[in-house]
Amino acid sequence: MLFKWYKQEVGELFVSVLVVGRDGLVVDIFTRNTEKIDEKKFVGAFSSLVEVVLKKLTLDFDLGTFGAGTFDTDKYRFIFCESGSDHVLVTILEPRALVDEVFPYTYIAADKVARIMDGELPVSPVIPKLKRETEIEKIKRKLDYYQKTTHSPDYVYKLSLIGDGAVGKTSMVHRYVHGVFKADYKATIGTFISKKECNFDELDTSVKFIIWDLAGQEQFQRLWPDYLTDTRTGILVFDVTNKESFKNVKKWHEIITKVADPNVILILVGNKVDLSDSREVSTEEGIELAKELEIYYMETSVKSNENIDDVFEWIALQIINQNVEKVRDSTVEKYINDSSKFTINQAQLKILENYFTKQLDYVISKADTKKIVKFLDIIKAVEKNKVIT
Ligand code: GDP
Ligand code: MG
Repeated sequence: MLFKWYKQEVGELFVSVLVVGRDGLVVDIFTRNTEKIDEKKFVGAFSSLVEVVLKKLTLDFDLGTFGAGTFDTDKYRFIFCESGSDHVLVTILEPRALVDEVFPYTYIAADKVARIMDGELPVSPVIPKLKRETEIEKIKRKLDYYQKTTHSPDYVYKLSLIGDGAVGKTSMVHRYVHGVFKADYKATIGTFISKKECNFDELDTSVKFIIWDLAGQEQFQRLWPDYLTDTRTGILVFDVTNKESFKNVKKWHEIITKVADPNVILILVGNKVDLSDSREVSTEEGIELAKELEIYYMETSVKSNENIDDVFEWIALQIINQNVEKVRDSTVEKYINDSSKFTINQAQLKILENYFTKQLDYVISKADTKKIVKFLDIIKAVEKNKVIT
């Protein structure tokens, strides 16, 4: 009964509340309906985690008491609140939940639980309504979460460069990672791996790459599938002054799509455009092939440093883009449908707008445009319902 009230006050982001002993053993549990089906499993999943966190919290405080503390995992936020000297009330919330808002209720609930445990009956199960945090705070927290999930700058993405030998793959990585161009040609033996972070100051985020530069020579052919496994993105490079390398793009495309991540982001790159006199492949041909493969096309010159950063930046933006898609349903659209009044502050709106407009700059094909327009629609809906603060 007490927990029912508690759940109601915490709201939709409530997952579960547990009363645990100091040793981490679960004494009582109350879950929202969805988890109720398999309570045992649920307790099992949490109890070990609760035990570990509890130990850590207790250790952190000399006296063995900690009052209250929070702990976040990917899926849940935990609030630990001491409930008398023997128990701890553990509240489990959705990650979007605003801890500050729940805290006051947690304290009251913990206090009541302690009194019930002490046999101090009857204890009123009703938790008084506290003044809620403003709507803005709530949205802020959700938006923070949304942005964090979207751009997850800690994640490292595997990026592979493939294409015939001598088209400029190694030089491209060199230029991007170290900012230099080396004219002497030494064929890559096996694989070359480097790391680089692609920063987006306007978005206040970055994408980290681990770059795999593969040897294009035939003798390394058997290694390709292994090296390309699970690659998140790929740059298919050909040399615009070498028709043969262009013809082989299809073969490379086939190899990579077979073993790469199903959502692999690919880009076709025609390199060495500085050698315009010896061009064997025209821009139109490049675009045509990219269309056929349903991927993006860019032309570069490592030598004159044309579009190199842009290639990697484009890929990074696509990654962010895909991640936005992933969280979109659970966050942005939900707000729009859920609330007739949407609260967002100028800074947050600016970030979203910046991001989507930046996307537009990179659009060339119709398919791309469609995707971006979809996002712009979301922005519009946000605009329509927003309450600028
Ligand atoms: P990879 O085998 O694909 O890794 O090719 P490399 O990066 O080793 O480059 C092969 C040769 O092409 C080297 O001599 C580079 O200096 C040269 N090269 C690479 N990119 C360019 C470019 O954009 N323009 C010109 N003119 N030469 C380039
Ligand atoms: Mg190389």
